[in-house]
Amino acid sequence: MRGNLFVISGPSGAGKGTLVVRVLESLKDVWLSVSATTRDPRPDEVDGCHYFFVSNQRFDQLIEQNGLLEWASVHGCRYGTLRAEVMHRLEAGIDVILEIDPQGAFQVKEKFPAAILIFVMPPSMAELERRLRARATESAAQIATRLQAAKVEIFAKERYNSVVVNDDLDKATRDLVDIIMAARAVVDEPEGDQA
Ligand code: ADP
Ligand code: 5GP
Repeated sequence: MRGNLFVISGPSGAGKGTLVVRVLESLKDVWLSVSATTRDPRPDEVDGCHYFFVSNQRFDQLIEQNGLLEWASVHGCRYGTLRAEVMHRLEAGIDVILEIDPQGAFQVKEKFPAAILIFVMPPSMAELERRLRARATESAAQIATRLQAAKVEIFAKERYNSVVVNDDLDKATRDLVDIIMAARAVVDEPEGDQA
């Protein structure tokens, strides 16, 4: 049996990371892919855990060696999904979550039409700004860039399989878990009476 591939996108600060942690706590046999990035680690980030932090030269090498399932430039840095890490889990029947931007999401959908694309929306732009300021992991200038990018990213939601509005955190977590459980139910469905 092969696992399901889920792609989660949404504006920075919408709550993707928070939701994914809660989903991983609620469900078994689901793995969150760790991407490679050329951006610098934030103070609380651990190499190999949050991301694999790599040089530009190493990122070029990964592209040349076809080591990335998809990659994109986001907010001025490059990010990519490590192909081998994802494929061996899917082949082992483990569900995989990619938390990536829309450019990457559509590359994945082209290669894997069965991938389930989920867009996480903030309840409003004002709340998005409040969350980014409260998280305090970016400078004022970086927050402004992310808010600007959010306005464009939100148009992409029409091309996703599902949209989850992250207003109430418990409700949004349940919505995400339900989407994953529904996909598992389809995979597990008997193929009909062979008689
Ligand atoms: P993303 O991964 O999409 O950039 P985060 O998961 O880091 O976003 O969330 C951004 C901030 O908003 C964090 O400080 C998080 O604790 C907070 N947050 C997430 N979901 C909610 C919610 N439903 N209500 C209020 N605050 C939230
Ligand atoms: P951050 O720097 O805040 O961790 O992430 C910035 C953006 O990069 C987010 O929109 C995130 O979803 C996206 N991102 C993270 N990893 C990948 C990846 O492997 N591929 C793509 N295309 N985007 C990614």
